[in-house]
Amino acid sequence: MQKYRHIFFDLDRTLYDFDRNNRETIYQLYQDFKLEELGVSDFDAFHKTYKSINLPLWERYKKQEITKEYLNVARFSDTLKAFGINHGLAQKFASEYIRLSPMQVHLLPGAIELLEYLFPKYPLHIITNGFDEIQFLKISRCGLEKFFQHIIVSEDAGAQKPDSRIFDFAFIKTGARPEESLLVGDDPQSDILGAQQAGMDQVWLAQSGETSPYAPTYQISNLLELKQII
Ligand SMILES: [Mg+2]
Repeated sequence: MQKYRHIFFDLDRTLYDFDRNNRETIYQLYQDFKLEELGVSDFDAFHKTYKSINLPLWERYKKQEITKEYLNVARFSDTLKAFGINHGLAQKFASEYIRLSPMQVHLLPGAIELLEYLFPKYPLHIITNGFDEIQFLKISRCGLEKFFQHIIVSEDAGAQKPDSRIFDFAFIKTGARPEESLLVGDDPQSDILGAQQAGMDQVWLAQSGETSPYAPTYQISNLLELKQII
């Protein structure tokens, strides 16, 4: 008898190649807004600065210290300011980012092959931190929608992984019980710790040799290794 009856997947950096897609979106904005003419000669430096500004803003958003609207604009106004651009581009940059980022459709290697293998065997679900409108668009544009029975987005759940409330929300929505559920994700804290606290087994997708303080049930370095586990 199979141990797991429900498989939950994280989205960004687990199925969706977030880093590649995000870089392409920011590059398109860099070109569309002619930042080179405004003195930003090094795209890599610009992208690196954006990431270093975005991350702590997301941490503050998770703690509910700032709103989604503030986050959306501040990550660009602060990045542009770091390059000496102070005029009102940030708002336009932010809305173009929201429009363009779900258009990128690169998935991680093996994602579709794995989902095609699992789909006939298990009910599959997504549990992701992010904004509703962006996550749903990404999922549908990547052709992932057909594999999943339920898609749980933190904004809709009112809490972000690793908060147990998003997992409780997911169990109610899917009818799954934690002890018969497996979570696949890349983030040690949001995914692995979060699932442990919710009573689920976990698969950590990480670079080979990487170690986590949270001792996941299983560790894989590419998605197709999951076929050996379930
Ligand atoms: Mg992730």
